[in-house]
Amino acid sequence: MSTLSLTVLGAGTPYPRPDNACSGYLLRTEQSAVWVDAGPGSLANLQRHVSPDQLSAIWISHLHADHFADLASAYYALAFSELRPRHRIPVYAPIGWGGRLEAFLTNSQVAAMSAVFEEHELHDGHQVEIADLRLTSRAVHHGIPAFGLRAEHNGRVLAYSGDTGPCAALDELASGADVLLCEADADEETEVHCTPEDAGEAARKAGVKQLLITHVGPAMTPEFAAGRAAKVFGGRTVAVAENEIHELR
Ligand SMILES: [Zn+2]
Repeated sequence: MSTLSLTVLGAGTPYPRPDNACSGYLLRTEQSAVWVDAGPGSLANLQRHVSPDQLSAIWISHLHADHFADLASAYYALAFSELRPRHRIPVYAPIGWGGRLEAFLTNSQVAAMSAVFEEHELHDGHQVEIADLRLTSRAVHHGIPAFGLRAEHNGRVLAYSGDTGPCAALDELASGADVLLCEADADEETEVHCTPEDAGEAARKAGVKQLLITHVGPAMTPEFAAGRAAKVFGGRTVAVAENEIHELR
């Protein structure tokens, strides 16, 4: 049976630790492999599951380093190693991402960037079909241009919050989803991150089947945050860890 799967490449923040990379996920179907968020450490874990030159696309929620910095590492992998992608890899990311990455590179490297990456900028409501996977991006509240994601395949739906405070776009992305993968960075209420209770409330309002808690800030353990979220959601809630694979059947 055709399935959509989520592989966790990293769920940590604000910096990568041994066995705890920053935000990174792999969405897979029979015909697609999309790297979602490129937090530091996630590229190394990605290679446990797929070679970077085999990616269908890369999608980045926002340009904070704990979601974006390994795109520079991916450039090095694709431009300077034995990996030779047969096609440019489409990158979908917030406005200005290309310039941000170019600023990190030297002049001679900038020319090569367009040889490995196909540049796309996200906007609210952006939609793209990547083989048998549909990705819809919505602008969310994080103090900088930032997006949440709704991934749909064969009747299965995974919603990903990116980083965001509670907002209507998050509720809409998650509406009726099989899985809501939601950050719970904040121990106390803030406009730019979800608390565990915010994540639980978003899952409850959206009527999702399962809540996966990720990107838990240093004030809490992931398990503690998942427990707080579960009390509000009332449904199945777990904290994710890297290299787990969650199948949406
Ligand atoms: Zn952020």
